[in-house]
Amino acid sequence: MAIIIDGKKIAADIREELKQSTKAFNVLYCTSPCLAVIQVGDNPASSTYVNNKIKACKEIGFISDSYHFTDKLTEEELLNVISTLNNDNAINGILVQLPLPEHIDETKVINAISPEKDVDAFHPYNVGCLMTGDADFLPCTPAGIMELLKRYNIEIAGKECVVVGRSNIVGKPIAHLLLQQNGTVTVCHSKTKDLKEVCKRADILICAIGKAKFFNDEYVKPGAVVIDVGINRDENGKLCGDVDFESVEPVAGYITPVPGGCGPMTIAMLMKNTYHAALAQYNDQLMKHSEVSK
Ligand code: NAP
Repeated sequence: MAIIIDGKKIAADIREELKQSTKAFNVLYCTSPCLAVIQVGDNPASSTYVNNKIKACKEIGFISDSYHFTDKLTEEELLNVISTLNNDNAINGILVQLPLPEHIDETKVINAISPEKDVDAFHPYNVGCLMTGDADFLPCTPAGIMELLKRYNIEIAGKECVVVGRSNIVGKPIAHLLLQQNGTVTVCHSKTKDLKEVCKRADILICAIGKAKFFNDEYVKPGAVVIDVGINRDENGKLCGDVDFESVEPVAGYITPVPGGCGPMTIAMLMKNTYHAALAQYNDQLMKHSEVSK
């Protein structure tokens, strides 16, 4: 039977660690890290994600500044809001909840966020830094996966890592992070031939395709680490991952459940990014101030 990787517990541990660090931050800087969360429209899933992010901010002791606009907001108006937040020293992180309504160009919006406040790490500058291994911020879901592997002492160096899915927010960045940790990485997608055979080679299998219960035991080498990133609804409307948990769990060495695996880690890593953004910005201000007073 596989060891169940408890993302809910690890995420709670990270939030607690951040809560303690925030107390010290408060003493040093007389304020708390502040995350601006922007939602446009009323997509129910987006509202749930936004509420969970605001809840996490409160729990840790961050300030959250939320902006909820109707879907009548124009692209120009949104870009103006972002520009104001970029120039506001009290705001440390800016998160625009995706997807945006169709009339707004997501790329333009992402590119408008200051890289140092881009806590989702979607800005091309931060994407580039991830590729070169110099990133200040890692995208939250891949960072959460790496943290789970680290906290369960799962060795990556020299391991066969197979990533299924090549999106910009999950597949590509997690492939790079595994590579940086000296994994031997294969990235698969919808055109990959013999997917089962490729997956069966994996010591670490990352499933991120968005297809309910797609991966069964035929895709998994005995003892493999199986990370299920998918968030789907099954035929009964129940939340499930890309992995058929009942089929894979007896074969795998480790497995993340859905819910309670990668999901809670994503928000925890967003909070971690916000904390580090705030720390960098306040240190920067302190340095500038000390240069002026010399
Ligand atoms: P996405 O942008 O839709 O990308 C899906 C990827 O899977 C694509 O690269 C696609 O290949 C590949 N794919 C689709 N069907 C396939 C198949 N039958 N065989 C092999 N590859 C296949 O999805 P995403 O944004 O990466 O999200 C993936 C899943 O993770 C979704 O369920 C999403 O809800 C979930 N997710 C969870 C979190 C979290 O916090 N836990 C965060 C983000 C996303 P092509 O490129 O060839 O089309």
